[in-house]
Amino acid sequence: MKHYQVAIIGTGPAGLTAAIYASRALLTTVIFEGMQPGGQLTITTEVENYPGFPNGIKGPELMELFRQQAQKFGTVTLFETVKAVDFSQHPFKLVTDANEEYSADAVIIATGASARRLHAKGEDIYWGFGISACATCDGFFYKNQKVYVIGGGDSAMEEALYLTHFASTVTIIHRRDEFRASKIMVQRAKENPKIDFLLNTVVEEFLGEEKRGIKKLTHIRVRNLITNEEGILPADGVFYAIGHTPNTEIFKPFIETDANGYILTKGKSSYTNIPGVFACGDCQDPTYRQAITAAGSGCIAAIDAERWLSEHYSKLK
Ligand code: NAP
Repeated sequence: MKHYQVAIIGTGPAGLTAAIYASRALLTTVIFEGMQPGGQLTITTEVENYPGFPNGIKGPELMELFRQQAQKFGTVTLFETVKAVDFSQHPFKLVTDANEEYSADAVIIATGASARRLHAKGEDIYWGFGISACATCDGFFYKNQKVYVIGGGDSAMEEALYLTHFASTVTIIHRRDEFRASKIMVQRAKENPKIDFLLNTVVEEFLGEEKRGIKKLTHIRVRNLITNEEGILPADGVFYAIGHTPNTEIFKPFIETDANGYILTKGKSSYTNIPGVFACGDCQDPTYRQAITAAGSGCIAAIDAERWLSEHYSKLK
């Protein structure tokens, strides 16, 4: 069984930043790419708010730069997905989808979260080309355009309010006529003249066009759940705010999470309930969910792991 001092699970900004710091601290470091190498940024188009890139950078290109930087310091990158862990023994054990087993003195969980999808017709075609799950990331591209937000929770209200800074109109589409969002957030949205509501309604299909190889969302097909009436509406952008699911299922037998599955970390640190296992990025952050905050927490996790290893490793051997 191959052994590393640090095993990092997940290759978004959090995991790869942890890899840069851990390998630069001269710890033998392996990183498992996982199901979506590069993480959620690889399904966005332009990233304009990552510091250091005044002209913006494509999400996949940014993650490739992260990866190269980690590899430069010796991180071993494996195109495998960790499918099971055993944190009840030390060194910790990890098993991948290639049925390979690895052991590690410290583990950094950076498995991220996945935006919930509707799985409506056309969604896969226009994801990243008119459909997004992050207004902070992509709202800027919809100046004076007609956008929709799907959902009735606090995220939907917050995203809609944020989008009014750019869009000409923002329509919140919600499947019920009652909101899960807090009253104050709903009130703020209702009071904003740019926001209107389409209630008891679901999006059934995304429609668009392709010009010179570039796909673009142009319309959505919606259905009223009370009357069953359908309609096709012009749409430049649609933002999903139907929640995120942290990718933490395989850790649950060992690692404490909140009711929504987000890993609980101690204070400002990346410490989990298991000494030697650290968590960073969106799998433990339901609030900020930005590439830069994930990268920052990846740095924290690597520093925590390095300090923990130097303090405790000799005792555990
Ligand atoms: P959420 O509260 O779980 O709300 C998800 C919304 O999406 C619900 O309205 C739900 O409808 C809808 N939805 C889920 N699946 C759907 C589907 N398949 N089709 C159509 N609609 C669907 O998620 P969230 O808004 O992301 O919030 C997550 C947590 O973060 C909450 O605790 C929230 O309070 C918190 N948060 C707080 C703030 C703030 O305080 N500023 C901002 C953002 C988030 P139903 O209501 O019908 O189930």
